[in-house]
Amino acid sequence: MLDQIKGLHHVTSMAKDARQNNAFFTGTLGLRRVKKTVNFDAPDVYHLYYGDETGTPGSVMTYFPFPNIGKGRPGVGEVGTTVYSVPEGSLGYWQTRLAEQGVTGLKSEETFGEKRLRFDGPDSEVFALVEGKDDARIPWSKGGVPGDEAIRGFHSATLRLKDGGATAELLKFMGYEDVDTSGNIKRLAIKNGNGADVIYIETLPGTPFADLGAGSVHHIAFAVENRAKQLEVRKALMDTGYQVTPVIDRDYFWSIYFRTPGGVLFEVATNEPGFDRDEDSAHLGEALKLPKQHAHLRPYLEKNLQSIGN
Ligand code: ZN
Repeated sequence: MLDQIKGLHHVTSMAKDARQNNAFFTGTLGLRRVKKTVNFDAPDVYHLYYGDETGTPGSVMTYFPFPNIGKGRPGVGEVGTTVYSVPEGSLGYWQTRLAEQGVTGLKSEETFGEKRLRFDGPDSEVFALVEGKDDARIPWSKGGVPGDEAIRGFHSATLRLKDGGATAELLKFMGYEDVDTSGNIKRLAIKNGNGADVIYIETLPGTPFADLGAGSVHHIAFAVENRAKQLEVRKALMDTGYQVTPVIDRDYFWSIYFRTPGGVLFEVATNEPGFDRDEDSAHLGEALKLPKQHAHLRPYLEKNLQSIGN
């Protein structure tokens, strides 16, 4: 069993409209946009990152907004719900805030003894806020949500799978422990993690596979401290028979990717070097940053990328 993985690093999804996406995550949810760059593999679209003040791994939701993309159809083989942690006693505040801002799909639920508030994102993707216990992570406090209520980072993500068995085994190999089961949902958690410690596996044998589109999670990334730990994880996965990509430089972290048995794309990303690598931490996310391989596209991109506001 591996011990290098420390919980979630980021979750990356697809959106239709960059401006609407930015307004939702910075305005409605009060997160900080910590990076405005482009998709390194398709540089004519943005890659927008939203998180806490510095974009701490475990807090970072990222989006590729494709203006011409169709709507995703939910199903198995994908991440279903992405869950944020908020302080105990704050769900009432969020219920009011989200309702006032016209957010749809609001529903109070209780899962594994934790109170949560489900809601839809701008492309009908499913999110929830859960009242995390003793979550000491420091929130971004300048996003319009008071510090007593602000989002601390991710709590968990739910994988929706036709057959969860092999993916549960994989997660255990990656260092997760099987902690509980309720109906068709299994709860796994990592010890000594970064706070974004829980993965749920929801098994839905009769459900068709998802069609990816706007509102779909593209991949989910797990955090390791540094490149040495990442190479240890890569070797262990390959020794187990997984096909893993070479290490790819994403400017703000290094990444490896592999497809899991249930169909979800996993990434393992480093905590280093971080989002302040190429801009002052006081101004994170404000300017359009381009990786050096796409720097020559700047005049074209500045003219053609949609303006998204602050
Ligand atoms: Zn990623």
